[in-house]
Amino acid sequence: MTKSDAGPVDTRQLEISVIVPVCNESRNMQALLKRLVPVLELCAASFEILFVDDGSTDDTLGLLRAAHAADPRILALSLSRNFGKEIAITAGIDHVRGAATIIMDADLQHPPELIETFVARWREGYKNVFAQRIDPNTYSPLRRLLTQRFYKLFGSVGETRLPEGAGDFRLLDSQAVAALRTMREHARFSKGLYAWIGFKSIGVPFDVEARLHGVSKFSYRKLTHLALDGLMSFSTLPLKVWSYIGLATSLLGLTLASFYLIRTLIFGVDVPGFASLIVSITFFAGIQLLSLGIIGEYIGRIFAEVKRRPLYLIEERVGVDPLAADDPMTRPRSG
Ligand code: UDP
Ligand code: MG
Repeated sequence: MTKSDAGPVDTRQLEISVIVPVCNESRNMQALLKRLVPVLELCAASFEILFVDDGSTDDTLGLLRAAHAADPRILALSLSRNFGKEIAITAGIDHVRGAATIIMDADLQHPPELIETFVARWREGYKNVFAQRIDPNTYSPLRRLLTQRFYKLFGSVGETRLPEGAGDFRLLDSQAVAALRTMREHARFSKGLYAWIGFKSIGVPFDVEARLHGVSKFSYRKLTHLALDGLMSFSTLPLKVWSYIGLATSLLGLTLASFYLIRTLIFGVDVPGFASLIVSITFFAGIQLLSLGIIGEYIGRIFAEVKRRPLYLIEERVGVDPLAADDPMTRPRSG
């Protein structure tokens, strides 16, 4: 990496690192940097902005190379394909060097100006400073409703509490970053992980702005997948609930059996009952398949984890050194 007048580069310890996952965000890049860099210059002694190019098919990577050439504080990792935002953030987490790390979206829905407050809270001693949405009107009513339902469900079955309105936009102390590096799960639900690691946390309220250019990359299918990953990574209730349903239905079966036995003893054999038979067979076959399906969902995730594939592959590093550890692709950097 070359030194330049633009700022402190490659010092052993930077003060602030910013991770920005990007997927086809070339149209937002300029505007983002224009707002982000001054904020960082104002509130950080030294900083780096690490873009993680998540398999963009537009000019994003070219713009990142140019941005790095103009300002070496801007760095980029380009993943070999689209791995999804959660994994892109993980790649960033593995490579940042700051005493504190900020994670934010590239579409300016996360106002860079909030970083000042993040840093102030961090200097007060908070290690997990998260932005809390107060104005949810930027997304469609259906997405808002489903999100709300998901958080309610997660609240009742999840084994970790999620703070309301908290997303990826946050500041993490290097201690929290180190904790996240130890978590190598493939089915990632980072909002759950941020809550799981704990540390002294505080929320900073903010209004989500509208996306500057382009449309959201999260279709309802992707969001459903993320929601399932979240529920299944942080709850085993869907697995356990079948023991109770099984117990309840067997008790019901036993009660019915005794009822029919006594009735037959008193009134003799009674042939009709075809309809109720079919109904109960179909109903219980359905329940059994459903429970098998849920077990299958967990087994599928276990399978993905035991294969121990790397979480991501890096195709190009723009100003970012390979990790010192033996596995250059994915090992978290030590210390
Ligand atoms: N993103 C990514 N990989 C993906 C999808 C999204 O890196 O597969 C990035 C995207 O470029 C943006 C951030 O994640 O910087 C948030 O994405 P988006 O705005 O589409 O999500 P939403 O605001 O709808 O939650
Ligand atoms: Mg967005």
